[in-house]
Formats: sequence, C-alpha cells, structure tokens
Amino acid sequence: MISAETDLVVIGGGASAYGFLKGLGGNNHFKNTKVILIYPSEYNARTELINIADISPKFLQKKNLLSLSYYLHSFGNYIEKGFTHIGVHGIGGMARIWGGSIGVFDKKSLIKNNFNPSEFQSIYDEIDSFLPSGCNSIKVSKKIKKLFGNYVNSRLKISFPKLLIKDNCNNCNQCLAGCDLNSIWYPTKDDFENIENLDINIMENCFVTNISDNKLTYKNKYNENKYLNSNTIVLAAGTMQNYKLMINLKECKSTKAKLYTTPALAFAFLNFTRNSEKKFFGMGNATFLIEKNKNIQFYGNLYDGYSLSISKGKVFSKYRVIDSIYKVLSRFMVVGAGFLSSDNADCNIEYINNTIVIDGKYTDEYYKNIAMILNILKKFLKEKKSIFVHIKKTNIGADLHYAGGVPNELYDINKIIDGQLKGIENVTVVGGSTFSYLPPESPTLSYIANSYRIGKNMTRSSNNE
Ligand SMILES: Cc1cc2nc3c(=O)[nH]c(=O)nc-3n(C[C@H](O)[C@H](O)[C@H](O)COP(=O)(O)OP(=O)(O)OC[C@H]3O[C@@H](n4cnc5c(N)ncnc54)[C@H](O)[C@@H]3O)c2cc1C
Repeated sequence: MISAETDLVVIGGGASAYGFLKGLGGNNHFKNTKVILIYPSEYNARTELINIADISPKFLQKKNLLSLSYYLHSFGNYIEKGFTHIGVHGIGGMARIWGGSIGVFDKKSLIKNNFNPSEFQSIYDEIDSFLPSGCNSIKVSKKIKKLFGNYVNSRLKISFPKLLIKDNCNNCNQCLAGCDLNSIWYPTKDDFENIENLDINIMENCFVTNISDNKLTYKNKYNENKYLNSNTIVLAAGTMQNYKLMINLKECKSTKAKLYTTPALAFAFLNFTRNSEKKFFGMGNATFLIEKNKNIQFYGNLYDGYSLSISKGKVFSKYRVIDSIYKVLSRFMVVGAGFLSSDNADCNIEYINNTIVIDGKYTDEYYKNIAMILNILKKFLKEKKSIFVHIKKTNIGADLHYAGGVPNELYDINKIIDGQLKGIENVTVVGGSTFSYLPPESPTLSYIANSYRIGKNMTRSSNNE
C-alpha cells in the first residue's frame, strides 16, 4: 500500500541535500514543486552501544552522534580488508558530521572528474553567496612563519583554511577542537524550510530501507514499514548509504563498485621554539600543502598541541597515562593530519552473502608520495631541532572522505556527474557518489557544489510531466 505520493523525494538531510535543493529552488522547471525531504533526526536507541570515548571531541557535536546509529543499522554486516577506519562512525551516512574545513578543487581535479572547470568555478561562486563560510580571525602568518621559516611559500605552503561556521560563532579559533558552541555549520530544518520556490515537507525520524524506480520503503519512528510513491527519487544520503540503496534497485544486477577514498597521514612532533609563542593557533587554523612539480601531493591541517590538550576527552590516546603525558607535552607540540589523493588507493566495495565488503590496497603512487612527504617533514624537523613523537599512516579507508560507490553497471562517468544512473530513469544521485576522483583535500564544498549544479540543471523526465 502506498501511504503518500509526491513529485520529488530527497533522501538525506546533509550538506549535499541542501546544495541540491538550493539549486532546485532556482530551477524554473521545478518552481513550487512539492518536495518531501526524508531523514532521521533523532538518536536511535542502539547508538549508545558504540564506544566513542577515544574519538576527538571535535566530532562530538550534538548532531554528529546521529551517525553512530546509522552505522549500526546499515553496516552491522560488513567486513574490511586492508583497511582501518578513523571516521567509521560516519560510515553509513555522516549525518552532517564534518570538521567544516573547506577548499575548492583545482582545475586538474575537476577535469579528472569530467567536470567543466569554468562552469564548476562559477558554481563555487554561486554557493558562496548562501553558505556561511569564513576564516578564523587569528592571522597565522607571523606565528607560523616563525615556526616554519623558509618552508613557508616553498615546498610546505601554509595558508588560511576556510570554515563553514554558523552565525553564533565567536571566532574563538577553537571550533574544531571540541567546541561546545556547536559552531560548525550544517543545514538545519529551518534552512531547508526557508529554501525559496519549493514546497518542502520534512519527514523527520524516518529511515529509508529500500528504493525502486519510483517507490521507496522507509521505517518511521515506531519502526513500522511505510511506503512513498514519487516521480523522482533523489539520493543524498552520503556515499555509503547511497551505495546501499542503489544495490537494492532491481535493475542493479552486480553490486561491485569502485570506492574513492583519501589515505591519511597524522603526525605530532615536539618543537621547543613552539613555546615562545604567546598565543596558540587553534586546530584548523593553518592549512598546509606539500607540492611536487606544482601538483599538490598532500593537504592537511596543522593543529596546536595546546588546543588539543584543552579539549575535553581523550584526544591523543585511549590510554590514560599516555594521554596525560601528551597533555603535559602538548605545549611544545605541533600536530598535523592530512590526506593524499584517491589515486593513492585502489579501493572497491561489494555486497557478498549479505555482507558489505570494502577491499583495498595502496597503489605504487602511495609509497612514493608518502616517502616524499616524510622526507620533507624530517628535513623540516632536523632544521628546527624537533622530534617526531607520533606518526601514523592510516590505511586506505581513511573514511572521512568517501566518493564513488556507484555499482559498475549503473556507472557512466558522463552521466554520473549529472547524477544519472545508466538504465534508470527516475533516480538521481547527488553528493560524493557523483565524483570519480578525490584530490587530497576536504571534499564537502565540492559535493555541495555539484549537488547544487545538478538541482539547478535538472530537467523533468517524461514520467514527471
Ligand atoms: C570525522 C569526519 C570529519 C570530517 N571532516 C571534514 C572536513 O573538515 N571538511 C570536509 O569538507 N569534509 C569533512 N568530512 C567529510 C564530510 O563529512 C562529508 O563529505 C559530508 O558529510 C558529505 O555530505 P552529504 O550530505 O553528502 O552526506 P552526509 O553528511 O552523510 O548526510 C547524509 C544524510 O542522509 C541521511 N541518511 C543516511 N541514510 C539515510 C537513509 N537510509 N534514509 C534517510 N536518510 C538517510 C543522514 O541522516 C544525513 O542527513 C568529514 C567526515 C568525517 C566522518
């Protein structure tokens, strides 16, 4: 039995859904269209089963906890090979979890994704007008120059990160370090309801379990199965949940898909000149790029040990003693984490015997690049008489950044950039699923951009007239 009918339904209430609907609001083909937006907005009881004590408080902003329950619901049955995860709590749809640090993809990365760079650039400009992007108020230049000396503007480039912050942010420079202010922006119910030219009806506390060309099944808050008929279904549930819903399509015979992810490197070193600075620069206050032949090889954020130490919780280690030692040393500590492009990982996802298997290995490129990065860092440390205290290469499946995951037989690079699936009429995909390469950079701004572009350019299919 169908319990409701609509023109268009969007699954997911994250950044990509918002970008898509903002684009659709400006699309004359869809003026005043009735849209249903469906996503869970409350914690699921099973959320508490996950131990999150050793995750940085950066990720414990209220809404972020939502993602834990999706993980349990959707990936109870999954295994991993050659794969460790640091953002696994976000694996089944991140539910608006992210640090908020943003950057635009360069021309080369856009071309690798089959986008038209100048068109994409103008989309970045358009979304900039409605996203609350800003920089932290602290100027990093003097402090960082002192610390990094001749590395600034040579191989190790330091720049300001942009952050997506809410109006109530007081630029305390701590917003990525367990901020109690909930200052990181994510689209709220109000944001969705205020999108112009669309008649948006939000169905909260619902979780979609299955889709077909124009019908979806969802569970409501009483865990009852309900159905919805829609001319167009838009998947904006995050890369992993989108995959899970796409493999349920009856047209999808094979569940194999390419998954793109950005291997990560995290490091901490002691630098005693560091202590001469009176004020700290906060987490996310400095973005650095390591380049080779004018190509960015590695992109990361520099954190300040102090800003980590004042965060609540076990930031450094889950072992209390190690954690306390780190906290004492943190005044002298510089911490960094960054990413390599998805070319450094060869990763696939498949559904085998009711189990989702994510299988990956490093590519040859990875070993060369990681050696180069370590050499640059080591050289820097030697000059500054600093020492490494911790270095960690996380395996592929540095699952903060996922893209792709479109089952092979539905995938066509010329179609997927517009959110279209091969052989399927009425389902559109937005967000990370529409990308086929990730540069070593924060991807969410680009996910929002392409989702917006898809919403803006979408035409009504014959079934929708
Ligand atoms: C720990 C961490 C830190 C990160 N930091 C950064 C950063 O600093 N900068 C950056 O650019 N990116 C960062 N990312 C990546 C960022 O989280 C993602 O790129 C971004 O969340 C993608 O947005 P989205 O809207 O496509 O998907 P999501 O944010 O995953 O949103 C998916 C939405 O769909 C809903 N949903 C999922 N499944 C269903 C279903 N079956 N039925 C109904 N609704 C469903 C969810 O509730 C949610 O509302 C980080 C990720 C993690 C995990």
